[in-house]
Amino acid sequence: MATYAYRCPACGDFDLTRPMGEAPDRAVCTRCGASSPRRWDAPSLAGMNPALRSALAREEASRDAPEVVRRSPGGERR
Ligand SMILES: [Zn+2]
Repeated sequence: MATYAYRCPACGDFDLTRPMGEAPDRAVCTRCGASSPRRWDAPSLAGMNPALRSALAREEASRDAPEVVRRSPGGERR
């Protein structure tokens, strides 16, 4: 299981525990029931290896918002 962070427009931040990789993009607020978007700067993952954390965040974010690849062909930057 992993803890995912969401931000209710009315109540602010809250966390949701879900199996790893199964966090929905929006969740129902635990306090008021409003649909709340996922926060990608999840502090609950702060203890994780930074490279792994950003890779996971990118991987999940890319489902809906593909990131433009800026790496030049054949380049090994990053
Ligand atoms: Zn709320």
